[in-house]
Amino acid sequence: MNTTNTELGVTTDRRQRSVDAELRSRARAVVPNGMYGHLNMSALPAIPQFVERARGARLWDVDGNEYVDLMCSWGPVILGHDDPVVEEAAERQRRRGDCLNGPAPIMVELAETMVDTISGADWVMFAKNGTDATTMCCTIARAETGRATILVAKGAYHGAAPWCTPFPAGVTAADRANLLQYDYNDIASVRAAVGERAADVAAIIASPFRHDAGFDQELVDPTFARDLRAYCDEIGAALILDDVRAGFRLHHGGSWEPLGVEPDLTPWSKSIANGHALAAVTGTDRYRDAAGGIFVTGSFWMGAVAMAAGLATIHELARRDAVARMRDLGGQLRAGVTDSAAAWGFDIRYTGPDQMPNLLFDNDTDYELAVAFSAEAQARGVYVHPKHNWFVSAAMTSDDLDMALTGIDGAFAALRARYPR
Ligand code: PMP
Repeated sequence: MNTTNTELGVTTDRRQRSVDAELRSRARAVVPNGMYGHLNMSALPAIPQFVERARGARLWDVDGNEYVDLMCSWGPVILGHDDPVVEEAAERQRRRGDCLNGPAPIMVELAETMVDTISGADWVMFAKNGTDATTMCCTIARAETGRATILVAKGAYHGAAPWCTPFPAGVTAADRANLLQYDYNDIASVRAAVGERAADVAAIIASPFRHDAGFDQELVDPTFARDLRAYCDEIGAALILDDVRAGFRLHHGGSWEPLGVEPDLTPWSKSIANGHALAAVTGTDRYRDAAGGIFVTGSFWMGAVAMAAGLATIHELARRDAVARMRDLGGQLRAGVTDSAAAWGFDIRYTGPDQMPNLLFDNDTDYELAVAFSAEAQARGVYVHPKHNWFVSAAMTSDDLDMALTGIDGAFAALRARYPR
């Protein structure tokens, strides 16, 4: 029986949230805002704040509601939650040891595998978060070149440290003093931003495609990628390809490998260990000494369980031909979502690669329709976010895809009822 949940504004009874509400309330007393960062759902009440468990492409919130997971923990889960092969490898290593006095032998095996897998990579360093890895890339580029300036694309996300956080609270002008901005896919804007400072540019950072939250996604123009490579060579700067979000979803190896463009330095994290905390930097021989010369470390960086998970993940991604599978599943999702939108008379923009799509509505500058759509989708057991790109995992079955497309069609129908033509 359907009832109306007025707080969520959705017409279904499957989203009872009493346990979630109680946990939110307790958290508010002991955690700033009850939650912080990108996982703070206080502005999006339709999305449960707390998650109980997950398996494959499904997850369950703390009130027992089941979802098809199209966020995949915001990227890390690529083979599916609780993948048996990855978890068995992690468990094997856990029995031997995890946080030890030095790296476990598995570090060398994982580094060898990554150097073999990622074209242009001559060495690897490990860390824990994407921000560790992007920041290390900047430090290595500066150490090698003796220069200060870093170019970033306007609106791009490279992490939550003062040099790159999108939010200004607590950030000083000095933290940003050596940054210049360019427009993605626009080589003229790169040259214009650099201007007379070419001799001080340590690095230019680019994402594999433009995946800024809240905007249409934009695939890289292959000519831009090649021109950026040539320009970095011309001025002696490092090309950093931030593969933290897209790595191993677009290609088994570096995301620009199919374009024939090899970066000097690449930060990785998210999906390289299927949800275990692991980040990495890969680089070319030119940057090897500089990488060895900076001091970077962390109490948990050599966690061997995450490395075992990473090794198993990379092998399983290849064995299961996961990129092709995610592209195929994502293609079916795209077709179904765009068909449903058209059938219900919505003008949407479904952008980005099939494996990492982004759905926005025309004439929806305040995201009212996007937020309402995601609430209706959540209410029908489809876990999506209104402003951030979604992630497809290789674990999705045809049942999962059916449940997602049925829920999404129902969400468009409910949206049409709320916003009659
Ligand atoms: N770079 C990109 C492209 C990202 O998407 C992210 C995380 N969303 C980061 C860096 C930072 O990674 P982390 O949150 O693990 O620090």
